[in-house]
Amino acid sequence: MYILHVASEFAPLAKVGGLGDVVHGLAKEQALLGHQVEVILPKYDIIEPKNLKNFSLSMPDLWSFEDSSRFHNAVWSGFMDQIKVHLIEPHHNSYYFNRGKIYGTPDDVERFLYFCRTACEFLHLKKEKPDIIHLHDWPTASLAPIIKHIYRDLGFSYGSIVLTIHNIEHQGICQPANLSRIGLRGEDFRTEERLQDPKYPNMLNLLKGGIVYSDLFTTVSPTYAKEIMTPPSSFGLDQVIKKFELNFRGILNGIDLETWDPSKDPSVHSPYGTNPTFIENIRKSKQINKEALFLKLGMKPSKGPLIACITRLAKQKGPKLILEAIDYTLKQNGSFILLGSSIDPEFEIDFQNLERLYKNHPHFHAKLSFDEELSHSLFASADAIFIPSLFEPCGLTQMIGMRYATLPIVRKTGGLADTVFDLEDSKIPLTLRNGFTFENPDQPSVEKVLKRVITCYQNDKNRWKQLMQNALSTNHSWKKSALVYELLYKESIKKAFPFKAA
Ligand code: ADP
Repeated sequence: MYILHVASEFAPLAKVGGLGDVVHGLAKEQALLGHQVEVILPKYDIIEPKNLKNFSLSMPDLWSFEDSSRFHNAVWSGFMDQIKVHLIEPHHNSYYFNRGKIYGTPDDVERFLYFCRTACEFLHLKKEKPDIIHLHDWPTASLAPIIKHIYRDLGFSYGSIVLTIHNIEHQGICQPANLSRIGLRGEDFRTEERLQDPKYPNMLNLLKGGIVYSDLFTTVSPTYAKEIMTPPSSFGLDQVIKKFELNFRGILNGIDLETWDPSKDPSVHSPYGTNPTFIENIRKSKQINKEALFLKLGMKPSKGPLIACITRLAKQKGPKLILEAIDYTLKQNGSFILLGSSIDPEFEIDFQNLERLYKNHPHFHAKLSFDEELSHSLFASADAIFIPSLFEPCGLTQMIGMRYATLPIVRKTGGLADTVFDLEDSKIPLTLRNGFTFENPDQPSVEKVLKRVITCYQNDKNRWKQLMQNALSTNHSWKKSALVYELLYKESIKKAFPFKAA
């Protein structure tokens, strides 16, 4: 199959969080399965093209449209892991992708709508037509209505369109005029059947457009698929999803086992294999890594476990619960390292205070930025990783943690509930229990779970070891999910053009 992903992130070129990892991991596995796989991304100024092989200008003149004006763009292409990556560079007077960051500018909607229209123009000019156009989240969801209302009539042919919702919180809610700017009359789309936002009827919802106009759509875990069909989790889109329920699936993400491999990871001080039989060697290496990291960060060893938290500090990730966990862990003589980026303004002061509060604390370190290298060495040094998300579509850090024999401590929600099974959960076979879970997003529940973690670490070394072995044995490779996507793609082609597939 010829599979084309259109996305706003692709690790390691452009990554804010899990979306970048997922688009890369899935595309790489699809290429390994023998498919022809390409990815289209904006050419952000933060991208380092040296990461792409044979990088060159592939289409010097690509014209696109906004507000009845024509704008010039160039397309650059190169290869990574057998995936052909196309970077669209707008020569637009708003410098749409030269902002030093991927999201978080007041004109995000305009930037990504322009990208969607330009990507369609690129696809239309390309000789080969994709079997699958796979869209990811609101920034690229609009390709679906643009293709079906403009490019299909211009003779553009393709197999089918699939959308994946990685996080339903962000939907691209905008004015009809925004859509008009890129050539679809916004007011015509402000209807319940099309893009009208369910909560704000004067507005359009770009993610809803992707749901309505794609042939099939997915989200990134079975539990999150159920959750977002209910009001508290759907951020207003539950009825829309229910209407198209037959087109909807929950497919669990995987992780890229090459990127996340403690035996070959260049950021790991003392590399170690992942074969659970050699658990003693793994424990020794992890201890060496921990000591080296403590030394590097100016920390002193503690009696308790080293708990890590590697996260965006968005409300979704439970910042208050993270603060409570730090406080409790330190009081119980454990160590805590926080690597947190993109702090929600609501919590900025709390985290600034935290740095001041625990300045020079021998068992605490916080780095409040994005640091890929530190994240890798932290996964290899910590005993446990704390993930108290209020909601979590899939979550990757629990899976990466397990791959590094770092036990996940998670709130039982979304993909976390599908991948982490508590030490004391009698409904789960002993060999599948791979971490610690808690239900309620409150201080008593956080303290209760951490108490169990610290007690087990200090007093029940054999059980801890068994959990590490179980975590290492959990299969998080992309292979299984990529095969499920393959079936889904076939189904979606049949659905889009039954006569073609017959
Ligand atoms: P989300 O996509 O919601 O941010 P995920 O758990 O799906 O959460 O994926 C997070 C990815 O981003 C993981 O690869 C994690 O290691 C990485 N990450 C998150 N915060 C940071 C940070 N501050 N520094 C480095 N990597 C980070």
